[in-house]
Amino acid sequence: MKYHLWTIGCQMNEADSRHLGAQLEAIGYQPSSAAEDADLVVLNTCVVRQQAEDKAASRLGALRAVKEARPDMVLALMGCMVGLREAPALKRRFPFVDVFLPPSETAPLLDHLERTGRYDRDRLAETRERAVRDAIQDGEHILPALQRGSAVTAHVPVVLGCSHACTFCVIPYRRGAERSRPRREILDECRALAGQGIREVMLLGQIVDRYGMDRDGEGDLADLLRAVAGIEGLERVRFLTSHPNYMTDRILEAVAEEPRLCPQIEVPVQAGHDEVLARMRRGYTVGDYRRLVGRIRRILPGAAIHTDIIVGFPGETEAQFESTVDLVREIRWDKIHLAKYSERPKTLAARQMPDDVPADEKERRRKEIEAVQAGILAERHAAWTGRTVEVLAEDKARGRWRGRTPEGKLVFFEDPADRRGQVVRVRIRSAEAYKMMGEPEPGPGPNGREIPELVAAASAGG
Ligand code: SAH
Repeated sequence: MKYHLWTIGCQMNEADSRHLGAQLEAIGYQPSSAAEDADLVVLNTCVVRQQAEDKAASRLGALRAVKEARPDMVLALMGCMVGLREAPALKRRFPFVDVFLPPSETAPLLDHLERTGRYDRDRLAETRERAVRDAIQDGEHILPALQRGSAVTAHVPVVLGCSHACTFCVIPYRRGAERSRPRREILDECRALAGQGIREVMLLGQIVDRYGMDRDGEGDLADLLRAVAGIEGLERVRFLTSHPNYMTDRILEAVAEEPRLCPQIEVPVQAGHDEVLARMRRGYTVGDYRRLVGRIRRILPGAAIHTDIIVGFPGETEAQFESTVDLVREIRWDKIHLAKYSERPKTLAARQMPDDVPADEKERRRKEIEAVQAGILAERHAAWTGRTVEVLAEDKARGRWRGRTPEGKLVFFEDPADRRGQVVRVRIRSAEAYKMMGEPEPGPGPNGREIPELVAAASAGG
């Protein structure tokens, strides 16, 4: 039996797909890269903007013919398109879909497969829960087969859902209320991932810096980060996304003190004008955000600060937009995830604020910030030329290794040896806005340890 899994959207969706793939393999399914020859096809969807929703709907439309030709194939729709309450309406719109799965919930599909006898019963000694849990605990299926032996990084959800209700955002309606996962479960998962060769984990939450606030005795994100960083085999730990209001000095200090915690702080500002921020219900002012950046730079000099910005929010005037551009010039973020406002059903903005910035104006604003930011990064990155950085090699494409520095900067380098999963010292030869190129250089590795492969190469005269 074969399954095909198609995923779009955020890192949380990637993680949900990894969990589902691992569970399907635990009950006897094998991965297939083509929907056409799979017994089970799952689409894991995103609706954060209209564009993503349209993509999922068109993929689903294309699969209709496959399903009609092979009615035996199981077709499942998963993720934010389904949300917690949309299944009945979707069933009417796409009657050929067999099962609907809310985000992070795999049970409806496993139930369906069980009910319809599509399990490999030989593999299933006891109950499904037992099989899945054991498989994941012993690490055998923590990574789906397609990622085993090749994936270097993995996403691990630590806070599910979101209870913040920013006026533009559909996520709380689709992923439900905020809930932190138990610390033990997270640590087990990270240990199993490390056992499967994963070297870097990214801890995920819509507001990841609220980790633990809804649980007694689990500690906060700072405690969790330190614990994950202590897991043997893991070289790097990142986390995203942080809400500016919950970023504590404790978290920043943990990153400063523990070398395996990467100095990359993701704090979406969304807009650079107080009135827009108030209408978004973000809960902070531009001044608050500036003070946060000051705190990050004091505790973590050299850390990369990333942000998200939405242009063309309802009522955003030209002058308000220009304040955002000014803030881009002032903060000089290391990365900006830029989006044009997209009205989302049921959100407060959709109900109360007309989507009044014309599409071509949104595009102009997006382009303006993109151009300003490209200039800033080109200038800032020029200073990286000649530096030696530590790059975790993730994969090889067109003859070059690709990896990231602890700050999350993308670096390419040439090296005939197999560097996958290794931290390599790289001397930066050229640095542009969105990528850096360099060559490997022998010397001490992370935390002062020698990198054995490089030492061997150097002493062999290589
Ligand atoms: N939880 C995070 C971000 C989650 S969604 C936070 O608190 O900010 C990722 C990004 O998508 C958001 O930061 C926002 O910039 C963008 N986004 C969310 N809803 C959007 C919408 N309706 N239109 C355009 N961009 C949106």
